[in-house]
Parts: sequence; C-alpha cells; structure tokens
Amino acid sequence: MKRINYIYFLLILTALAACQQTAKQEKTDYEAEIAKELGGAVLWYQTSAEMHLSYLQAYRYAQLLLDEKLSQGEVENPAVVLDIDETVLDNSPYQGRLLEEGKLYASESWMDWTKRGKAKALPGVKKFVVYAKEKGVEVIYISNRSVKVLGPTIQNLKDEGFPNADSAYVFLKEETSDKTNRRATVSDDYNILVFVGDNLTDYSQLYADRDEDWGKQLVEKNKEELLNNFVMLPNPMYGEWEGAVYRHDYKQPDSVKLEMRKEALNSY
Ligand SMILES: [Mg+2]
Repeated sequence: MKRINYIYFLLILTALAACQQTAKQEKTDYEAEIAKELGGAVLWYQTSAEMHLSYLQAYRYAQLLLDEKLSQGEVENPAVVLDIDETVLDNSPYQGRLLEEGKLYASESWMDWTKRGKAKALPGVKKFVVYAKEKGVEVIYISNRSVKVLGPTIQNLKDEGFPNADSAYVFLKEETSDKTNRRATVSDDYNILVFVGDNLTDYSQLYADRDEDWGKQLVEKNKEELLNNFVMLPNPMYGEWEGAVYRHDYKQPDSVKLEMRKEALNSY
C-alpha cells in the first residue's frame, strides 16, 4: 500500500511539473510574440534616413528656440535639460537584442547593456550641446537610468564627447521615474530655456495622463507652451505611449498585453 501511495505521489509531481512547463512555455511564446512587434520600430530607428533627418531637424529646432530665448534679453544661469536614452544616446542595439532573443525589457538585461557604456551619440545632439555651451548655456541631463549605473553612464557620455559628463550635471533615477523633483532641483539653480526628450514626461509629468484620446487632447490644449519649451524626438520602440496601451500596467500577463495592443489598433 505504501508503495502505491509513493507511485501516486510521483505521478502527481510529474503532472504538476508538466503543467508548470506548459505555463512557462506559453509565457515565453507570448513574450516572444510581443517582442516581435518591436521589429518595424527598431529597423526604422536604425536604418531609416528619415530617422536621421528627424533628429537633425529636432536639434536644429532646439537651437532656434534657444537663440530666440537668448535674444529676448539677459538670462541668469541659463540651461538646457536633456533626457539621455533615445535623446542623447542610442540604445537601439539593446532593443535589437531583445528582438533577436524574443524577450521584453527587463531591468537585469537593461543594466547589463548600460554597464557596457557602448551607446552611441544620436544625430544632431552634439552640435546642439556644444552650441549651447559656446553661448554660455549649461547642459544638464535628467534621465531615468538607475543611479546604480551613474559611473558607466558618465563614462559613456565622456567617451562620446559630451560636455558636462559629470555627476554635478547628470541626474539619474533614485526612487521614482517621475522627473518633477529633479527638474525642480535644477530650476533652483538655473533658468531652463529648452527641454529635449523622447517622452512628453521629459517635459512634465502632466503628460503621463493619457486617458483622453491617448493624451493627444492634452497636447493639443497645451501646444503653444510645448512648442515654445520642449523639443520632441521620435521613439517608436518604447515609451509612455506603450504604457498607455497597457493602461499603465506593465505587470499584466503578456497574453493580456498582446490583446490590448490589438484592441488599441485602428483599422477599417
Ligand atoms: Mg528617453
């Protein structure tokens, strides 16, 4: 009898392990399916001459804005504030790797990439920051990279020839992705004339709210202020827009996220 119980026990264990394996496999399949959706976006970011000109254009616009503001009269301690990822440094090789491996963003893999310090400067940005420095305008970086990678980030900026690659000018994430407090800290010492980023929240946390028409109505309402202060770069690979598709909940099962992506699509 004891022996039969033992065999039952083993059978149940085997069945449980098989179920777990299937669940894991399904998760991987859904993850790989969402990862595939990165394809067009990464390819566009890496290969299109259109992307190249978009960045050049955005940074030229940033320079024009800066010139206009400087021409309005003396400003004390002027500064420009730039985000880092997909604004100053190109992390699309990390996205390419995710695509190849059928994986989604994870803090471990992201940390591994950023610690390498191998991201390249994006088009137009260096010319703009050098121009700002020449005009006596301070260059400040506010990024949601973890403060744990401050060292490699500063080294990466230095290697790519950026000015102010120094902890006094680089504000990374300590607790929250909300940049409001970091912007306020910078504003205590500087007059920020121009902001540049690939996310609207690089300008104001107000734009985390995407409830009305994916946040477009809010942009429409505040467009004059945005156009006068913020320079927007294109990032089709990830961002606040994707969070909005998932109703700001990245922790949902990948199968649900995949459905939400489909639901958000407009087709005829
Ligand atoms: Mg960014």
